[in-house]
Amino acid sequence: MKLTKKNETLKRLPEPAARVIEGSGTSFVVHRHHATNLHYDLRLEKDGVLKSWAVPRGLPPYPGVKRLAVQTEDHPMKYLTFDGAIPKGQYGAGKWIYALGKYTVTKDKKDGFYFRLSSKEVNGEYRIYNIKAKEWLLERVDTPQINYVHDVIEPMLSSSATKPPTGDNFLHEIKWDGIRAIISLEDGQVRIRTRNHNDVTKQFPELAKADKAFRATCGLFDAEIVCLDKSGKADFKKVIHRLMSNGETTIQKLSKTSPVYCYIFDCLYLDGRTLINEPLVKRREWMRDAIKPETPYRVSEAVEDGEALFEAAREHQLEGIISKEKDGRYLAGKRSDLWLKIKVRNTRECYILGYNPGKGNRSQVFGGLHIAEKEGAEFIYRGKVGTGFDDNLIKEIYKQLKSLKEIKKPIPDKVMDEKLVFG
Ligand code: MN
Repeated sequence: MKLTKKNETLKRLPEPAARVIEGSGTSFVVHRHHATNLHYDLRLEKDGVLKSWAVPRGLPPYPGVKRLAVQTEDHPMKYLTFDGAIPKGQYGAGKWIYALGKYTVTKDKKDGFYFRLSSKEVNGEYRIYNIKAKEWLLERVDTPQINYVHDVIEPMLSSSATKPPTGDNFLHEIKWDGIRAIISLEDGQVRIRTRNHNDVTKQFPELAKADKAFRATCGLFDAEIVCLDKSGKADFKKVIHRLMSNGETTIQKLSKTSPVYCYIFDCLYLDGRTLINEPLVKRREWMRDAIKPETPYRVSEAVEDGEALFEAAREHQLEGIISKEKDGRYLAGKRSDLWLKIKVRNTRECYILGYNPGKGNRSQVFGGLHIAEKEGAEFIYRGKVGTGFDDNLIKEIYKQLKSLKEIKKPIPDKVMDEKLVFG
């Protein structure tokens, strides 16, 4: 796919030279502050000082959600641009700028006021009002264009490449062989959706109950759910089995005997703030800061040396690697050359056209599957496969096949052992 010049500039972001305070009005800053308890500091400039509130659960994501804001002492103006960033390697520490811009008071009330925040990071109207002593409530007034914790967000897709890209503007990760998942977090509720938007939260109770794995109240993450074998390699059959299992008892049992891990590789939204327009390296910093170590959620590590990682992937017979441009935005639902998949194993996407009934010990299931690849709208017949499945997979595939309606043979070609059922 050729991309126009205009698209190129939209996909990548130049590293800003300095923080510019955007918008018109009076300055504001929100800090993400790792103190004894993680909280956010909202500071609004007024009469030469910064009026300050500590907001433990972050900016409210959409109207109807109220957040406690505890007023703290006025801070001097120098705090406006204070950015402690993340101390090197110390995720879960520091005090750093989460949003910086201008605000305007849109309505004055007896117990507080309405105000609009305008910045690169946050744009929205909020209301803050005093309930008692130093306690205030903060809520969002306007409806955000995208509700990241509720709306369906399409994951970003990758293009194929035959070898890792060179140059230092890429980060390289292992391509996890599992189930692509979009993980949303909202006030302790974890929700897991697949690429096809199916809610599969109940299949993975060990992930659903691990809401404490996050240093965040609200978030949206892009990830891959895997089962690992003894050597730490992703076992695709096992995780598919987890996905297809039925019954709460069975699922609970499997969550102990065949647990999954969720490798998170991107963060799209965090505590009231969109991240999709940030460069990948920045999103990864926020992501890492938002995930606690030693939980079923793991950070998918990224390295600078793509060739070495690809070699290691080949040596360990992994599926392959993904190379991502450091400056790239998150392009939801789009395939671009910002993300490249480089496969070790040559896998191909095929369609099942039909099957032969099984014989002997497979008389209760299928014998062989007739597969085809798609070129445009046309199926190209590729032959019959009958081996390489384990018992569980055979049963699961057969169950799905049986649930389909029988149709006429969808291709004109003569197929192997032509006396079969199409589905
Ligand atoms: Mn603070």
